[in-house]
Amino acid sequence: MQRAFRARRIIPLAGEGPSRTARELFSPPRVHDDAVIVTRGGFVEAVEPYGHFRRRAATPLTDMGEVTLVPGLVNAHGHLELAHLTGSTVQGAGFVPWVRSLLPLAAHPLTQDALDAAVRQLADCGTAHVGDVGNRATPQVAAALAAADIGATLFCECFGYTLPDPPVSDALWPDSARALPPDVFMRQATLAGHALFSTHPVTLAVAKRWCSRNGRPFSIHLAEHPDEVEFLTTGKGALADMLAVRVLPEGFEAPGVPPVRYAAELGLLDEQTVAVHCTQCTADDAALLAASGTWACLCPRSNAVIGEGAPPVRQLIEAGVGLCCGTDSLASNHDLDLWNEVRTLRDMAALPAAAPLRMATVNGAAALGLAHLGTLEPGRRAAFAILPGDLSRDIPATA
Ligand SMILES: [Zn+2]
Repeated sequence: MQRAFRARRIIPLAGEGPSRTARELFSPPRVHDDAVIVTRGGFVEAVEPYGHFRRRAATPLTDMGEVTLVPGLVNAHGHLELAHLTGSTVQGAGFVPWVRSLLPLAAHPLTQDALDAAVRQLADCGTAHVGDVGNRATPQVAAALAAADIGATLFCECFGYTLPDPPVSDALWPDSARALPPDVFMRQATLAGHALFSTHPVTLAVAKRWCSRNGRPFSIHLAEHPDEVEFLTTGKGALADMLAVRVLPEGFEAPGVPPVRYAAELGLLDEQTVAVHCTQCTADDAALLAASGTWACLCPRSNAVIGEGAPPVRQLIEAGVGLCCGTDSLASNHDLDLWNEVRTLRDMAALPAAAPLRMATVNGAAALGLAHLGTLEPGRRAAFAILPGDLSRDIPATA
């Protein structure tokens, strides 16, 4: 059935591909004043002036009022299976105290109430799709997102130094992935590595190869915190002390190179990889990410909550790194409202609002390989969000 949605302003980002340069990210987007999104069967048929639309035969029209509509948001990194841990971890003291406080809590099973409340937060801010990382409650998470009509890339996370035997991709999938309905697994599941410091390099390489062969995105937490850099380059520090107890194998030797370079050496970096966090990226790292086409997913509020520093947003943009964004989990963020990441990125790097808007829409869709999302134009999914007033005021009318 044909439907239409009128709004005071619509910013469809139509015709835009992913923005990797400052010029693309910062350019003022085209704003349609007093316009409608015409949809059929859940897909966009047209975005056009309201005056034009009124001349057509009767079609149900929803007047959204004095708001600005934009493409539905793509939250490129979260962990819904930690939704029951809001506010229960150590904050502001860095990664090691945070993860030490998380580990005993993460063993508690996810509750349906907490999951449903988290999914409502995603829906309320206009989230169309989530890149969700997990390895325990994947079927429960997939079902809750489907019930809310939110798309999902289900990153099934590999962790640990125990090599699967034989070291082939079939052996990498966690039991929770095997428990997915077959059609959901086929359409939505892919592999992720937890991090370079926590996961065997062979496991990471095998997982990445599976993703490449199957045309799926791969994800890994990368250059997230100073402890990671210290551990990978020297094998020492607070992270080494913690990992030595349960994770590291006997005789472990650090690779002796910083994270982004190590990821490149392992063959993990290309345009189908989403490198999450990147707070510790140097200019050389940014150049490596840009040259490989790797997406950097920024989660600046999570970094602030844990106390890891901030991503070098301007440096990444100037290097030409493709940027998207995510909330990360409720164990390291106050809420799952991606508009708060958009505001944080705007404010921390003095960006025009159009830049983080593109990161949260067209770039997020490209990073996760979603051809049906990211912009509002014919053939795309009719998934849209209301741009909050403060951000809308930052985007001027088209001259
Ligand atoms: Zn994460």
